[in-house]
Amino acid sequence: DQITYDRVMAIIEQEHVRFVNLEFIDVIGMAKCVTIPVEQFPECLQHGKWFDGSSLEGFARIAESDMYLFPDLSTFTVLPSELQPLADGSEGDIVARVICNVHTPDGESFDGDPRAILMQTLDMARSLGYEFRVSPELEFFLLRFENQVPTPLRNDRGGYFDLSTDLATALRRRMASALQHMGFTIETSHHEVAEGQHELDFEGSEALHIADGLMTAKYVIKAIAARNELYATFLPKPFYGINGSGLHIHQQLVDVKTGRNAFVDESAEYGLSEIGRRFIAGQLAHARAMCAILAPLVNSYKRLVHGFEAPIFVNWGRVNRQALIRVPRLSTDPQASMRVELRCTDPSCNPYLALAVMLRSGLDGIQRKLELPAPMDENLFLQEEQERLRRRARLLPATLGEALDGLREDPLIREALGDSIYEGFIDAKSIEWIEYRQHVHAWELDRYLPVF
Ligand code: GLU
Ligand code: MG
Ligand code: MG
Repeated sequence: DQITYDRVMAIIEQEHVRFVNLEFIDVIGMAKCVTIPVEQFPECLQHGKWFDGSSLEGFARIAESDMYLFPDLSTFTVLPSELQPLADGSEGDIVARVICNVHTPDGESFDGDPRAILMQTLDMARSLGYEFRVSPELEFFLLRFENQVPTPLRNDRGGYFDLSTDLATALRRRMASALQHMGFTIETSHHEVAEGQHELDFEGSEALHIADGLMTAKYVIKAIAARNELYATFLPKPFYGINGSGLHIHQQLVDVKTGRNAFVDESAEYGLSEIGRRFIAGQLAHARAMCAILAPLVNSYKRLVHGFEAPIFVNWGRVNRQALIRVPRLSTDPQASMRVELRCTDPSCNPYLALAVMLRSGLDGIQRKLELPAPMDENLFLQEEQERLRRRARLLPATLGEALDGLREDPLIREALGDSIYEGFIDAKSIEWIEYRQHVHAWELDRYLPVF
């Protein structure tokens, strides 16, 4: 609209913006960008910016290669100072960014654009009377290189207060404030369980805004780490035997008419409404198929193992940290505290596709009135119990290969993603899985070569 347009033009003028990064995302979740001089921006708003989409991952198979980027002006911001080109005398080169939707030459929304898939799913939810609000917990490691080996930035050593504690804390603060500058609120940040592991928690908001925020956060975090000679990694399981990095997502459906949390029914068991029960049942029903989208790397499945606070079962619970879905106990503010936390997701996922399939699965549970099984909160950490549960609970996929099989068998998830993303994703990921299977890994040599 005119107000947004005028505001953006005023910012460009006041801040002396010279370049605009036109950002979008590919199917496997890589942020992409085309940079234009600011003089081209008004023209780009009117007619879009042409680019050749044929060599992009997941876009590649699609015959169409002429694509147009159309900025979503509500996402326009000047990059925070840490992300501006280094002061090298060219200090006038202020860069702004804007997230774009991808269109075909006919002006249609491109069906290979993950952001469009999420927007369509959100529209579907709205037509059923719901807004999808989420808040993610983004975990990552800060590493440094010692003799070219990536090593966690240690924050505590044998009880001694390591100086680097200050560095990591300051960096988390800088990351949060850079994101704030770009319009995303980080509610809390903290050091995570593992050495060198950190977490930023987003304030709950509407799902498209959060997906934009996650795409943004990943490059902001990497850039700020890099400026401090550190490497931030979102690899789900960088180190054997140590907690991996998850992306837990707290979800709420808000009734559009009343503005109230549709998962709350204080008179019901756990305070969980029927809508909430069906939403969870839908996500459990599609969990094995969604998993490939939510945890999309070979490495993701090294995280989803017993003993590291990551889920392994397709179940739900209240306190259970191995449960796929957790419904926390209600606080004195049920409207705010009632939420459904999905825990298998990891930060390597494409956030647009992840939120789209999560929402679509939950809505399917509501539409088909699926029954929710009993929660599993028995002592999951006791080994015996563990064995007993394993026999009666469905397990999450143990490998990317299994997850892809799950994805191939689920028509609803296919419909949610649309044929071109569905096929592009399965093709790209199958190649990854086959390549991994063909390789001989260090573990195999260590374990077998001396014996066989
Ligand atoms: N790092 C754990 C995971 O892989 C999560 C720890 C937590 O509960 O925050 O999911
Ligand atoms: Mg955490
Ligand atoms: Mg959590």
